[in-house]
Amino acid sequence: MSDGRWACVIALLLSSSLLCAAPSDGQTVRPSDDYHAQAVRILKTIPLIDGHNDIPDAIHGLGGLDSVNFAVSQPKLMTDIPRLRAGRVGGQFWAAYVPVTTMDSGPHPAVYALEQIDLVRRLCANNSGSMAMAHTAADVQRNFAAGKISCLIGIEGGHAIENSLGALRMFYSLGTRYMTLTHWRSLDWATASTDTSRRGLSAFGKQVVLEMNRLGMLVDLSHVNDQTMSDALHTSKAPVIFSHSSARALSNHPRNVPDSILKLVAVNRGVVMVNFNPAFVSEAVRVSDDSSSARTDALQKAGVDSASRADSLKKWQATAPHATLAQVADHIEYIRRIAGVDCVGIGSDFDGITEVPVGMEDVSKFPDLIAELLKRGWTEADVQKVAGLNVLRVMRDAERVSREMRGR
Ligand SMILES: [Zn+2]
Repeated sequence: MSDGRWACVIALLLSSSLLCAAPSDGQTVRPSDDYHAQAVRILKTIPLIDGHNDIPDAIHGLGGLDSVNFAVSQPKLMTDIPRLRAGRVGGQFWAAYVPVTTMDSGPHPAVYALEQIDLVRRLCANNSGSMAMAHTAADVQRNFAAGKISCLIGIEGGHAIENSLGALRMFYSLGTRYMTLTHWRSLDWATASTDTSRRGLSAFGKQVVLEMNRLGMLVDLSHVNDQTMSDALHTSKAPVIFSHSSARALSNHPRNVPDSILKLVAVNRGVVMVNFNPAFVSEAVRVSDDSSSARTDALQKAGVDSASRADSLKKWQATAPHATLAQVADHIEYIRRIAGVDCVGIGSDFDGITEVPVGMEDVSKFPDLIAELLKRGWTEADVQKVAGLNVLRVMRDAERVSREMRGR
């Protein structure tokens, strides 16, 4: 009997616990608490970096920074400093989300983006004991060593630049380090995932991508259609990111990344950061959500009043399926299998999603996800890559490409 098995017998005698058992490969199965402790220990050595969190828009919706004290618990939100600390978050790309409706009326998309960037910078400055701005991979490492959470800015929606490369350059100079090329609506230079057309990037769209490469701003392909993903991957001189998208093979949602593109990401050395949106994570939830909205539409067409519609929806939701933390881990493992372990990361979409997987309720839960990977037999080196080292490498590569292009 191996040492591990003796340890199990002793542990069983001592605690009458059934947690410790010897599987067929001879490896000792440990209690979940051990994996959690190991995850926390790992996240003390490298920064966990989340690709997408919508707190700026959520705070905007609650009346702005003056109405929210981010330093204390905020039960209405999925994110606050105490839970970022509990979740061992080392760096966060905050989304400067620009609603597509700004293309029609209200403030200009560029102004809206400026206000979101301003909000992130003030949020960071107001909480300077816990957070610090980061513009480079080296900044993230420095802040991490100083015990601070790095605040990184990503613009969500290329309509923010209003077809101006000058505006793009100014957004870079304000600290923007990625831009999601579209949101839910297509632009004249890039096509959104929900668009039925097969168009991809226009000639100007390719110019935008190359200018982002030259500046050192990451090209974010979450939200674009497959043709735009492919065009951008063939145009970009630097690794690209998907800041918040999962694997389409596991949930057939257009916001997820198909295998053909995952293979291109492997060649490009980019990173797909897995989204926690239950409909992106679980095929059963996606199908249920689709039929739920079809049902709501049908009730509306039949003239059913809004209170009865809401009641019917509530009953429907009571029996609806849920996504789970284990399924989020399945996406990470799937992307590792197709694109490689160097091309997968985490892009929660917290505070942008209204539902969450069971076990991944808020930013404090990241160590649980890392623990799940460890439990599945992942090495420490590989979970470090998923947690943050992959995106740091992509940032460094983009910075190098920028230096080379500026030098020419
Ligand atoms: Zn989004």
